[in-house]
Amino acid sequence: MGFVLGFLGACLGIVAGIGIIAFVIYAKVRSVVGPVGMKEIKEAAKNMKDLKREEYTREKNVGGITKLIESSIIRDFGDFNKDFLYSKAEKNLMSIFNAIEDKSVEKIKNDNDLIYMYSTIRDKVQDIKNNNITIKYDNVQFHRHAIKDYSKTDGKATITLSSTVGYNYINDSDKNVKKYYSGLKRETRYTTKFVYVYDETKFKYNQKAYMISCPNCGAPLNKFGAGNCEYCGTYIKPINLKNWYMVSYDEDYKNF
Ligand SMILES: [Zn+2]
Repeated sequence: MGFVLGFLGACLGIVAGIGIIAFVIYAKVRSVVGPVGMKEIKEAAKNMKDLKREEYTREKNVGGITKLIESSIIRDFGDFNKDFLYSKAEKNLMSIFNAIEDKSVEKIKNDNDLIYMYSTIRDKVQDIKNNNITIKYDNVQFHRHAIKDYSKTDGKATITLSSTVGYNYINDSDKNVKKYYSGLKRETRYTTKFVYVYDETKFKYNQKAYMISCPNCGAPLNKFGAGNCEYCGTYIKPINLKNWYMVSYDEDYKNF
């Protein structure tokens, strides 16, 4: 009993101490800047919050030079269709958002478009589960896309896309989202990369960068062709490399 009271007393003392310090600082600042200055400081803080909220809800600009790059892609890939790739980016990002929301990779396990992404998403989902975090993406609305970059080297071609999107975002581990942006639509932008392996023999040197995992046990697959997983024996369908596959995605605005 005596211990509990002593403990409560100590807590009270600490709270009172912090209160006194805060008051002394407030009084000191006020004596320096005066009551008018104090009002200005408070207003500046409010404006700061408004500015942050404005920036959060501002539809972002895509960063790309589509026309210029598109022609060089078409030179290498005659049947290239940028709208098809844009819709793929939307579909893939939606699948990733849903997996994060559901905290499950069940629906993307056998998604052929996400073969290079599967292990990354699986790890992310596991991390979210472990930390007991809830993330939600509601009313997702894609705005625009642009081609940001293109390269062709060592048996593979890479296209980088820039995509703007808005959604109602909930993340219970993000203090700022709760503090400033609750109920607001988050306007943001994603950078995604797509790879087309046109010469597997050359690509082998870079293979580690784009690992394909067994959808059943998660073991890395060494070969692209058909066969059985070395670890669990699951049959893996042959992968058509002559296709644009997403290899990475990244939100450009992480710290609002
Ligand atoms: Zn396996």
